[in-house]
Amino acid sequence: MHVTFLGTSGAIPTTERNTSAVFLRRAGERFLFDCGEGTQRQMMRYGTGFDVSHVFLTHLHGDHVLGLPGLCQTWDFNERELPLAIHTAPGTKSQVEALIGVIGTRPSYTVAVHEARPGSVVVRGDGYEIRAFETEHRTRSVGYALIEDDRKGRFDREKAEKLGVPVGPKFSQLHRGESVELDDGSVVHPEQVVGPSRPGRRFVYTGDTRPTDTTVEIAQDADLLIHDATFGDDNAERARPTGHSTAAEAATVADRAGARRLALTHVSTRYGGHVAPLEREAREVFDGELYTPDDGDEFDIPFPDE
Ligand SMILES: [Zn+2]
Ligand SMILES: [Zn+2]
Repeated sequence: MHVTFLGTSGAIPTTERNTSAVFLRRAGERFLFDCGEGTQRQMMRYGTGFDVSHVFLTHLHGDHVLGLPGLCQTWDFNERELPLAIHTAPGTKSQVEALIGVIGTRPSYTVAVHEARPGSVVVRGDGYEIRAFETEHRTRSVGYALIEDDRKGRFDREKAEKLGVPVGPKFSQLHRGESVELDDGSVVHPEQVVGPSRPGRRFVYTGDTRPTDTTVEIAQDADLLIHDATFGDDNAERARPTGHSTAAEAATVADRAGARRLALTHVSTRYGGHVAPLEREAREVFDGELYTPDDGDEFDIPFPDE
């Protein structure tokens, strides 16, 4: 699972930071979370490719969606054939459809807009699901979590050989959870040679939000939590009325959730080139891996047991 930060600025872009967008690649599938103005140029600049199957919008503030009409038009010029699914907060479907159709023409490929009910599975894929969760902003909003299925336990090859299992198809039968009978009539059960199942990875993207219990809940043991950190302590009083979080509040959510890694994003232009105070304030609360990514930064998210 590989993440590219395409836009890390708050409401307004700067020359260094574009507005919100996160690109996620997992086993041949590519997803885009939010699509601020200029996202398509960021995709070119940072070489993500354009092969996106699902776009997940957290809410309809311009800094999260204004890149969508342009990107949809470019896909049209590129003769995209793959259908596109766009997920958006409940009650915003018609606005998203209007946004794509704003120039008066419709893309030639199929675009389906789905409203993502908080708490529901919005995509069920091969080995993972993507869930929407409730966030708290000044408008209808949701966050998204990609949660991988548990993986099979480790196969203890040495032990299997010791028990007399011949190298070959019986190994994979056992790994699949089936018991096997050996030539001498004895039976070997999977639990004798296969370890406990291992958790998959968990990626959580909040979009703009106050710190919430729903984020703490869904970000339990998250391998990467990307959280709104618009303000530092010096502007803490602005966070609540604007529906945002401070870096310390984001860190508190990550700490309560036991997240392994926290990325602070959507930073206000006042910290654009100087994020050290945000990191310092977050560090006081959260002792996992902490990042304040720049545009173009990339992360490989390892499995928890790697
Ligand atoms: Zn925003
Ligand atoms: Zn917003």
